[in-house]
Amino acid sequence: MRKRIILTVLALGLIAAMPALLSPSRGEGRAGNDGVQECRDEVKQRLAADYERLETLYKQLHANPELSLHEARTSARLARELKEIGFDVTERVGGYGVVGVLKNGQGPTVMVRTDMDALPVIERTGLPYASKVRIRDKNGNEVGVMHACGHDMHMACWVGTARVLAGMKERWKGTLVFIGQPAEEIGAGARMMLEAGLFKKFPRPDYAFALHCVSNLPYGTVAYTEGLALANTDSVDILVRGKSGHGAAPHTTIDPIVLAARIVLDLQTLVSRETDPVDPAVVTVGSIHGGSKHNIIPGEVRLQLTVRSTKDSVRKHLLDGIRRITEAAAKGAGAPPPEVKIREAEFTPALYNDAELTRKTAALFKEVLGADKVTVRPPVMGGEDFSHYGRARVPVCMFWLGTIDPKRVAEAEQEGARPLPSLHSDLFAPVPEPTLKTGVLAMSMAVLNVLGK
Ligand SMILES: [Zn+2]
Ligand SMILES: [Zn+2]
Repeated sequence: MRKRIILTVLALGLIAAMPALLSPSRGEGRAGNDGVQECRDEVKQRLAADYERLETLYKQLHANPELSLHEARTSARLARELKEIGFDVTERVGGYGVVGVLKNGQGPTVMVRTDMDALPVIERTGLPYASKVRIRDKNGNEVGVMHACGHDMHMACWVGTARVLAGMKERWKGTLVFIGQPAEEIGAGARMMLEAGLFKKFPRPDYAFALHCVSNLPYGTVAYTEGLALANTDSVDILVRGKSGHGAAPHTTIDPIVLAARIVLDLQTLVSRETDPVDPAVVTVGSIHGGSKHNIIPGEVRLQLTVRSTKDSVRKHLLDGIRRITEAAAKGAGAPPPEVKIREAEFTPALYNDAELTRKTAALFKEVLGADKVTVRPPVMGGEDFSHYGRARVPVCMFWLGTIDPKRVAEAEQEGARPLPSLHSDLFAPVPEPTLKTGVLAMSMAVLNVLGK
């Protein structure tokens, strides 16, 4: 109880301490609230005037998805949108990365990031604007492409926010850096943009924001996670070597299938026996391939693992442990040394939302959307490479955007009900209008909240 009073006092303190934009020439206290409402009303008016256009853009992006590292047309579209608004736009910053800069006097630099890539999923939503895109993968198989992670919604909100803020220049001072990031789904795009000089060739942000759709949160609402939000994500390949031979003469072979099976089970002890139970960790063997026929003992077996953690020390222990356990098991079987490859280039660090920035943003959201529309979302073991910008010592805040009809969310919460389609599902379908409107309003206000006046 006492904690709650202290928190309330803190929250009120934060609202009172918001920048001048929230209290335009009217002093403090209630005038501050009026400033927020005034700003909110202007954002809403501008958004309403622009809405049809924005929904069309969303549906076009949804119907024309592109896979990671192939975002040619998507990035060109985003670049065109920013240029039209008056941003100074640079393309091909780290793959298909887009950077737009809008300067408006002295003040903080604020970055807003959207991702642009879609997933190899055949869409089954049945929506009139569903993706019908099919491509051939590198094995020649036909695969669909779908914005099943909501990156199309992120892009539409990003364009909407850019348009709103560019129209409200008399209300803020500073620099906007809007980035369209490629290849989020393979954990590569943020690193590519940073390596291409994002924070050196362009103004270095004082704050960075992003939003991400959530598949079980009602539209009209947002959620936030202070501090740790998402996990360290690593991919590991293991090649288990044996000695091949006839299935009826196992004594003449070293069976890599039996060895791989032992390794898979031994790896489970990394989390259950070696990691402090209060430190979250996951070791999943997601793929195992070996052999060609009933009666042939193969020469090798390949494993693919995903490894999640929240602390760097735990990450190191897990990765070292995978190597140690695999090598020891091979030695025990008298097998040739296995190969353990940690895909460093695909490492996505844990996402830590800056505590101060997140608290300040959440307090504002409660004022703008209503306290009942803003919830806390606990951390999950998923990964998002927006974390790289935070690792480059920029205070970051990624918040969560509700996308689903509240009635459907309530139904899915009933006991025994079928869960809603998750992100990456071929049935994931945000409701455009309320989701877009909430996304643009929340993002515009979050950015205004840290810009100068
Ligand atoms: Zn995703
Ligand atoms: Zn995503």
